[in-house]
Amino acid sequence: MQTELADFIRGTPEGEEAEAILRKCVHCGFCTATCPTYQVLGDDLDSPRGRIYLMKRALEGAPVSGSTRTHLDRCLTCRACETTCPSGVRYGRLVDIGRAVVEARTTRSVRDRLQRAALAFGLPRTSLFRFALRLGQLARPLLPDQLRRKVPPRAVPEGAWPAPRHRRKMLVLAGCVQPALAPDINAAAARVLDRLGISLVEVPAGCCGAVRFHLNYQSKGRDDMRSLIDAWWPMVERGEVEAIVMTASGCGATVKEYGHLLSRDAAYREKAARISAMTKDLSEVMPEAGIGARSSRGRIAFQSPCTLQHGQGIRGRVEALLEGAGYELVPVQDAHLCCGSAGTYSILQPDISKELRSRKLACLQEGQPQAIATANIGCLSHLQGGTRTPVRHWIQLLDEAMAT
Ligand code: SF4
Ligand code: SF4
Repeated sequence: MQTELADFIRGTPEGEEAEAILRKCVHCGFCTATCPTYQVLGDDLDSPRGRIYLMKRALEGAPVSGSTRTHLDRCLTCRACETTCPSGVRYGRLVDIGRAVVEARTTRSVRDRLQRAALAFGLPRTSLFRFALRLGQLARPLLPDQLRRKVPPRAVPEGAWPAPRHRRKMLVLAGCVQPALAPDINAAAARVLDRLGISLVEVPAGCCGAVRFHLNYQSKGRDDMRSLIDAWWPMVERGEVEAIVMTASGCGATVKEYGHLLSRDAAYREKAARISAMTKDLSEVMPEAGIGARSSRGRIAFQSPCTLQHGQGIRGRVEALLEGAGYELVPVQDAHLCCGSAGTYSILQPDISKELRSRKLACLQEGQPQAIATANIGCLSHLQGGTRTPVRHWIQLLDEAMAT
């Protein structure tokens, strides 16, 4: 697509990157077929092709309005369009640039600003989030059904975190909301890897930066990334850990991009690239051969998060591990489509989010599974809010299989 960038961005690193991406788009529209928001809303401006056109116009200096921003806000950043695009358009990177430009040239309502500021302040702070969650959990019995479904019951680890005892060590990201919502996930990962001869260690650290970055507080999101690098760096520099493991695919997709996101920061560029290179989704550090078939363990539907299949390009790996552990996987239609969670999207775009969740749950439950497995805490909480079928992290199922 021919593009004439406006003076304010021409020649900047962002402008050059955006222009290179825009040039690849041939406007064929193949991507619309796999875009969840286009499927729900049916408006070309809520499809990847339409959004690319809006961003191109904004980067060329055309007037932008609240309507332009709304179409970008409605994008889940699921990146299904990237998987579909035959021309290799890196939509995810373009939308980061486009959103920053549109945000700077429009004004949100006071309510919108307050809501986004509250999310950006509260979610990355684990202690604050845990406190607010506990209050909600205490009030849970008194809440109307609609609201009660939004507050998950209090969760405690189902087993201990084994003390480090192996020569092989890996770091694991604690994350921001996961320790409060599902503290068993990292503990289960530690138990599984401990049985495989690897000690998993956590260091006190905060959010990976995804929350604030994707709320368009991009500079604060980068601050979170730098803080996390600082927390991990001593162990990485001393060569004490062979990998950095992500148990939430949303965080994994972001940390794997640190090298790119901090490439213009001379002080952090090299560290960020090294951190990204060492970062693995949990499924990538599990042995290829899996843990060995056990007795039949029941029917599972696997929901592959967008950040796993589109963001990190990991497909079929978790499914193979679950099957290897004796679980029967039921077929799931439209497995490439987002469940509507998408970080803070379920709060900021509740109607589209709920519609996508209903569609996803219908597909996941069609084969009448005993449980739904996923790889991301956001998807887990979001899906669990819409069904009585238990939704678990796949590592918890593997932990159970290995323990018996
Ligand atoms: S992003 Fe890719 S699939 Fe979509 S219109 Fe552009 S070239 Fe076609
Ligand atoms: S990232 Fe997802 S929601 Fe956004 S345009 Fe692409 S397919 Fe549609």
